[in-house]
Amino acid sequence: MAQQGTRHGIWPFGPRKLRGADIPHNKVTADQQTTCMSLPSTIVLPMQQHIGAKCQPQVAKGDHVDVGTLVGHAEARTSADIFSSVSGTVVEIRNIFYSNGDTDVAVVIEPDGAQTLDGSIGVPDISDYQSLIAAMKRSGIVGLGGAGFPTDLKLDVDFAHIDRWLVNAAECEPYISSDYREMMEHADTIMHGLTTCLDLSGVPQASICIEEDKTEAISFMKKQAASDPRVEIAVLPERYPQGAGHVLVHNVTGRSIPRGGHVTDAGVVLFNVTTMSMIGKFLQDGVPLTKRRITVMGDAVAHPQNVEVLVGTPIREVVEHCGLAKEVRKIIVGGPMMGYSQVDWDYPIVRQNNGLLVFSEMGMEKPRTTACIRCGACISSCPMRLYPREIQNSYRRGDAEALDKLAADLCMKCGTCSYVCPAKQPLTQATRLACDQVKAARKAARRAAQKKGA
Ligand code: SF4
Ligand code: SF4
Repeated sequence: MAQQGTRHGIWPFGPRKLRGADIPHNKVTADQQTTCMSLPSTIVLPMQQHIGAKCQPQVAKGDHVDVGTLVGHAEARTSADIFSSVSGTVVEIRNIFYSNGDTDVAVVIEPDGAQTLDGSIGVPDISDYQSLIAAMKRSGIVGLGGAGFPTDLKLDVDFAHIDRWLVNAAECEPYISSDYREMMEHADTIMHGLTTCLDLSGVPQASICIEEDKTEAISFMKKQAASDPRVEIAVLPERYPQGAGHVLVHNVTGRSIPRGGHVTDAGVVLFNVTTMSMIGKFLQDGVPLTKRRITVMGDAVAHPQNVEVLVGTPIREVVEHCGLAKEVRKIIVGGPMMGYSQVDWDYPIVRQNNGLLVFSEMGMEKPRTTACIRCGACISSCPMRLYPREIQNSYRRGDAEALDKLAADLCMKCGTCSYVCPAKQPLTQATRLACDQVKAARKAARRAAQKKGA
């Protein structure tokens, strides 16, 4: 493969492991059993809980729904059906606003407390790989590590060049231990989902990839996998961001995902470990994805814990369940490195959320930005071996050509460069924007070329 992309010509990556940075994990909730919440007072189901097109509401105000009733239908190919997580009555269909200013339509349901299962639910009949994909289309399962990519679409790959199935159990984001608890509490459904996928796809080998500090999970999953010689446990370095697709694939297989390419271009498929568990669970009972585990932490939380939350539960009720120790200044949905701030406490937990961080004023102390001292820490720690400072400068200058040469589109928005920068430069903010800009420009160029060729 020809070298391409970065100015210093490191693409594709050499044999050296991609490193990242040494960031304290702070996973104090990892050893606690997952707790359950009482039924929330209301359920809010936005029609976009995945990457791709919004779903169309299938219910109207006054309708009765059960657990697993189809509430939002995925009309586009890249989309995933949304199901009710409670039995009850639809009380409202209303607009909601995201933190970034986007709007969405949400179905609001008042639970009746009975939690009756929808009569249409049954164990899926799986005979071959195509029937597995068709079943997943009705499962509501999306990438649960945070990406939200529809699972049926992710399964729909050409296996001619795929020789390995990777299960991402790195969970490298500080604080978050939701995937860890999935391994400790539901290893059976993880293995059932994975072995079914291997049986039906014909992929000969699988690796469950876990960071080296999670010693209990490594030995526990090794025991679970011992019965199937196709499945091994791959141990990753304890460095953030081992769970990022490019980093994990390279560190486990030694292969690079090409610039602008897909993980399958490296001959592997890659699934988050909780997603794999949900596949296994759905194959056993046919109940669509209506609940998930999230880690609730932060200095303002009285009782940090992993809690099983019904999809659509308002953030306010999850926080109340865990209790408050201090006045809240900020809520972050997801981890501290890649999560996003949420200002509306009545906004719900959606299916791809894996964490909720609640901070007081003290926890949100903002460091003072000073001039770049050219220490190079941002370059040496960038897992994609980019030049974050150069990208920041080029972005500020509006130099699109330079950004393309610097391969800003390879930035995975992991936040490592900002974390390590002693001058506290807002590098990630700049590289994020630059990444989106280069991707948009490349997409526009592809479209123009297609138009010209048509
Ligand atoms: S945010 Fe982008 S530029 Fe910064 S370290 Fe991560 S991949 Fe590199
Ligand atoms: S880490 Fe910060 S101070 Fe060091 S070179 Fe990068 S931007 Fe400059």
